[in-house]
Amino acid sequence: MVKIEHIGIAVKSLETSNALFAKLFNVPSYKSEEVESEGVLTSFFQVGPNKIELLVATNPESPIAKFIEKKGEGIHHIAFEVDDIYAEMKRLEGEGFTLLNKEPKAGADNKLICFLHPKSTNGVLVELCQEIR
Ligand code: ZN
Repeated sequence: MVKIEHIGIAVKSLETSNALFAKLFNVPSYKSEEVESEGVLTSFFQVGPNKIELLVATNPESPIAKFIEKKGEGIHHIAFEVDDIYAEMKRLEGEGFTLLNKEPKAGADNKLICFLHPKSTNGVLVELCQEIR
């Protein structure tokens, strides 16, 4: 893994939380993008070298809706940048981690992504992401 690519935060309202985090970071969200397949609308903040992703559910079946129902708003996942997502998925599966998708899928911000099941990572939802080149 290369580095933490971003931290994902589940929120109930993008409007409210965009305003809140803009105040906290003293910088506005630089883009918003819908990932229809995941049922989420995202909003990104650049904080120095770090990226924060806010996620709001776009339908009641969205994983974000279910997360908020169970745990409330808060940190949802940590995303790690990888050079070769196919190789990394294979390596991690070989190490006994549970992949939530068998093939990388298209995520926000021009990325191929894969989630690891939190039950195999001490309760931390881990996202792998690789820039689509
Ligand atoms: Zn993410």
